[in-house]
Amino acid sequence: MSTIPAEVRNAMIGGEPVAAAATFAVVNPSTGEPLAEVARCGATEIDQAVAAARHTFETAWRKTTAVERARILRRIGALIERDSEELARLETLDTGKPLSQGRADVRVAARYFEYYADTVEALFGDTVPGPSDVLIYTLNEPFGVTGHIIPWNYPIQISSRTAAPALAAGNCCVLKPAEEAPLTSLRLAELALEAGLPPGALNVVPGLGEEAGAALAAHRGIDHLAFTGSVEVGRIVSRAAAENVIPVTLELGGKSPNLVLADADLEAAAPVIVNSIIQNAGQTCSAGSRLLVAEPIHERLVELVSERMKTISIGPGLDDPQLGPLISAAQRDRVRGFVESVGSGVHLVCGGSPPADEKLRGGYFFQPTLFDGVAPESKLGQEEVFGPVLAVTPFSDLEQAVRLANATDYGLIAAIWTTDVGRAHWLAREVRAGQVYINTYGAGGGVELPFGGFKRSGHGREKGFEALRAYTQTKTIAVKLAGG
Ligand code: NAD
Repeated sequence: MSTIPAEVRNAMIGGEPVAAAATFAVVNPSTGEPLAEVARCGATEIDQAVAAARHTFETAWRKTTAVERARILRRIGALIERDSEELARLETLDTGKPLSQGRADVRVAARYFEYYADTVEALFGDTVPGPSDVLIYTLNEPFGVTGHIIPWNYPIQISSRTAAPALAAGNCCVLKPAEEAPLTSLRLAELALEAGLPPGALNVVPGLGEEAGAALAAHRGIDHLAFTGSVEVGRIVSRAAAENVIPVTLELGGKSPNLVLADADLEAAAPVIVNSIIQNAGQTCSAGSRLLVAEPIHERLVELVSERMKTISIGPGLDDPQLGPLISAAQRDRVRGFVESVGSGVHLVCGGSPPADEKLRGGYFFQPTLFDGVAPESKLGQEEVFGPVLAVTPFSDLEQAVRLANATDYGLIAAIWTTDVGRAHWLAREVRAGQVYINTYGAGGGVELPFGGFKRSGHGREKGFEALRAYTQTKTIAVKLAGG
């Protein structure tokens, strides 16, 4: 059955569907077949969206109370829940991810709206001690119009992750989804309108990075920018934000380690380690893409991990396998390039190529891949593959383990596996990463956990109460008191 739709998915600007002069095709990565035609917005539509957001901010949204905003956000969460199966299927078609993952992503998206609806009512200002005849207090005011540039790997989750706190704080948003997977972000804009969000408070403007993305990043009418994506584009967006002297949150990539000490429970660790690299086909910023393992248990752990990797089911997202396809042919070529770059001395334990299954020929599949003996300074030891490829490096003592854990430009997540609680906490302090997990692994954790990078993994924090504050600016008010 063909999945080609009849109509073009237009932008959502000022509460109305808006066509662009051109369209671009979105492909189903599980089959390689066209999935949708989407408006290819550019500078003109970005201008319109920023103007619509500004208008709604000035005339409506900035005048609402936290209680009113919270009610609407809660309704958005409820509508996401109502349509969760439709949204999950759309996300799975658009990204190729297993349906269970699509469902989990949609649940998390709803949670962002619920969480920020609740927490915005607890966002208090301060009273500041000062002279006895002066009252000093602070207000947490919204920036105004916030720009949001979203990657393709978790579209509805990341759109909700940045839009929900921005809206809760009183900002109006212009959101550009990734060209590979824009469909659920567009649907989110429709649900927000249905929930009673004023038209123009959430504008979704699909398009190419170098067109719509660049126009949004450089727009003079944007007061704050949230970027999630690669380091390379993060730099470009940062430069544009610097020109306009606006704050920018950068959520970038990672090369996150699972660090396994000799006393760890290997049977418990192995499945979690495998899941941390096959989740979303390894296309997760916080993927556990390095396995640093103590020498005495090295051989055993590699055996456990590879045994498990060989049992992973692979297939189209809607069949709900454990591993779906990569997002595109280009991404598969990139992953293959990494595999081919591996020098002699590195042992390919399993995988290393697309699966042989003829039925999967049309999609962009790649087998779970395990390399042992990877040199920490090599390309595979340093760079983000963004595919289901795990690099193993053994270590001889704790000092070397810490050195290896910190030996990349990234610092997003780390996991430590040991039964020695004192060592676990000592290591958690030594590792330079925005989140550290002990005897577990969370790809960023729940909506309540502040999330973001050290070093080139970015700066600023998403999620948690911290993100709500990040979408406000502090205003200090001082009042001279007069009395009898
Ligand atoms: P990308 O940087 O190529 O694209 C991200 C977004 O930027 C897309 O919407 C794209 O259209 C846009 N863009 C591209 N060029 C642009 C330009 N010149 N100006 C403005 N915008 C532009 O990243 P991607 O390939 O979509 O996603 C993969 C990367 O994202 C990985 O590095 C991954 O680690 C990272 N990521 C990070 C997080 C996090 O929270 N830390 C989450 C998901 C993905």
